Amino acid sequence: MTECEFANQCPFYNNQSENMGSNAEEVKNSYCRGNNLHCALYMIASSLGTDKMPKNVLPSEKDKAFAIIAG
Ligand code: SF4
Repeated sequence: MTECEFANQCPFYNNQSENMGSNAEEVKNSYCRGNNLHCALYMIASSLGTDKMPKNVLPSEKDKAFAIIAG
């Protein structure tokens, strides 16, 4: 199982998001160790840079990612 290339810099992966939720490990299996291309944080990191990954966006919140990327 491959891990997302942004895992080291990612706030969600490192349990620093504001609302990790009770299913964080399941989310990590689905996104970080699964299909990261659908991850909101991945979209932000690949568009704006890994230093722009916010702590208030979860992998499933693509609507937030689109808004942030659109600026
Ligand atoms: S939350 Fe998204 S960007 Fe962060 S490690 Fe997981 S898949 Fe990668």
